[in-house]
Amino acid sequence: MHNKRGWLSDGFKLKMGDGNTVRFWKDVWIGNQSLANQFPTLFRVSSGKEDRICKMGKWRDGKWEWSVQWRRSLFEWEKDNWSKLQALLDNTQPVQEQKDRWEWKHDKDGEYVVKSAYNVLSSNNGHDKAWIYKRIWSRLVPTKVSAFTWQALQDRIPTKINLFRKGIITDPNQVLCGLCGESTEDSNHLFIHYRDTCSVWQKCLQWWGISTVMTNTCQETFEQHQSFFKESSVRAGWDVVWLAFIWSIWMSRNGKIFRNSEYEVNRIFELVQLRAFNWIKGKANEYSFNMYEWMMEPVLCLKAKRKK
Ligand SMILES: [Zn+2]
Repeated sequence: MHNKRGWLSDGFKLKMGDGNTVRFWKDVWIGNQSLANQFPTLFRVSSGKEDRICKMGKWRDGKWEWSVQWRRSLFEWEKDNWSKLQALLDNTQPVQEQKDRWEWKHDKDGEYVVKSAYNVLSSNNGHDKAWIYKRIWSRLVPTKVSAFTWQALQDRIPTKINLFRKGIITDPNQVLCGLCGESTEDSNHLFIHYRDTCSVWQKCLQWWGISTVMTNTCQETFEQHQSFFKESSVRAGWDVVWLAFIWSIWMSRNGKIFRNSEYEVNRIFELVQLRAFNWIKGKANEYSFNMYEWMMEPVLCLKAKRKK
């Protein structure tokens, strides 16, 4: 089931260290759900509902002893659950002098993401949005790009605000956007509102002769695309451009933050054109247009399918 509350934990996996950053009850660190969800009756009578793991026990002679505190003594019927929880805890303990690490589950081949995208598609919850996911998983685009975009639409990518929520960034001053420094870095700022991103996007729209209004969220932007083109080959081509746009923005953002390279509007726009061209030409052999034609008349290129 697609659990909206679990979106962030879902994208991150814990490597437990000293337990300083992980909330015992509320984070997902044993099993696929938080302990609060797995043991709701115990959670209700626990004290320290927000406490980190490091507060839930003590080191004695190099061995960790769990000590979970209750607001009152447990009833008989609660003790059963407590034994179950103890059995789980017995197999796990913090590691001294090692920091907790949250690893982002966006692995190279995107296998994890592909699986969770499939889960959304097949759940009732995801039904009304299924067309979005189907079009993101375009046959023309590399899997890692679809996987990334799919996560971006759910705000599951490691933007600074998400890293802060997860305790990976602890200094609140560090959640500011690494490109402009003026706003918190979240997906919508990065892919829509930041002024240079916005300029790249305007160039893409002009290139395709589209005039439209600005949206507020990435998902709205993608939903808006539905109305742009009637012909399926043109629409599929525009989807590729949008995916290339998202990917190019993210790559350029990383370049700026990690390698101090320039975040330059014209350069990024060219990358979008080039990536989209390569992806379409690499996978769809029914098209014969060249790079020059693609840059001049993208819509005509996609309308002119080669006869097989
Ligand atoms: Zn910014």
